[in-house]
Amino acid sequence: MVITMVKGATQEQVDHVINRVQELGFEPHPIYGVERTVVAAVGDERGKYQLEGLESAPGVEKVTPILQPYKLVGSEIKRERTIVDIAGVRFGGSQFGVIAGPCAVEGRDQILETARAVKASGAHLLRGGAFKPRTSPYSFQGLAEDGLKLLAEARSETGLGIVTEVMNLRDIEVVAEYADALQIGARNIQNFSLLREVGQTSKPVILKRGMAATIQEWLMSAEYIVSEGNERVILCERGIRTFETYTRNTFDLSAIPVVHKLSHLPVIADPSHGTGIRDLVAVMSKAAVAAGADGLLLEVHPDPEGAFSDGAQSLLPEQFGTLMETLQGYLALEKRHF
Ligand code: PEP
Ligand code: MN
Repeated sequence: MVITMVKGATQEQVDHVINRVQELGFEPHPIYGVERTVVAAVGDERGKYQLEGLESAPGVEKVTPILQPYKLVGSEIKRERTIVDIAGVRFGGSQFGVIAGPCAVEGRDQILETARAVKASGAHLLRGGAFKPRTSPYSFQGLAEDGLKLLAEARSETGLGIVTEVMNLRDIEVVAEYADALQIGARNIQNFSLLREVGQTSKPVILKRGMAATIQEWLMSAEYIVSEGNERVILCERGIRTFETYTRNTFDLSAIPVVHKLSHLPVIADPSHGTGIRDLVAVMSKAAVAAGADGLLLEVHPDPEGAFSDGAQSLLPEQFGTLMETLQGYLALEKRHF
């Protein structure tokens, strides 16, 4: 249920509602909007009629059921877009954030060279996996904590905040120690204990869409994180698996406006994994801007041919630079800016 306060309700009135919600056995989630405050009461739907009495509490305008299954990330509860800040870069407002870097951190020279190049071209954040989810156990699995240290070195040299994947519960602490944002990969989107645990950290989370996840399942996964208290979630469309084999995945651009309709969370696009083909990355980046994406996640490698993973979809630093220039005009059309 959602308890909508009148415009100008006092903090005391909001606190009273929060306390009553708690007493009735529900979890209160106050959302302080520009216009008014609402309190979401989340819990077992069967007891929700008890909350209806709150309609006569001081400062309450109305008590209504939330129909969307994702109570906290849905647009029913909050119409204004949520802005998620990663190391000073804002996703979800007029700023358009670009996260760029290699698929994996492979070594010191590789990550530093990439970080310098993407920074010079105007990237806002650096990406790179230190823990890699690979289809084969014999493939390169990432440099683990050494990789995180190299990312931290690249951050101190370039000033770029860092985004990196956390694959399991055991590694959350160490990844959170170094990273500015935690990435949850496509393969882990329904690892509910991992989602709950990152929901208990204070780090922003980039939640990739699962390769077989419906939009509803993806939003329910975001709900797991937010329901634990971490509201700083950015969704990332990275393509889904279909019968098409020409591209690595089918980049589902329409998911971007759909998510914007259904949720207040920011959504970014990853055309690198979305297509798997370097030559398609620039055009699909432009298309993602037109679709309303709040940012991009792009793989860039100084030597794609020698990359340990995802070389075929990685842009060369020069290609990334050209794309960043081209995007300026597209962003202006959408009334956004870097
Ligand atoms: C990645 O970003 O390198 C990655 C492994 O992404 P995904 O989880 O979308 O496959
Ligand atoms: Mn990759």
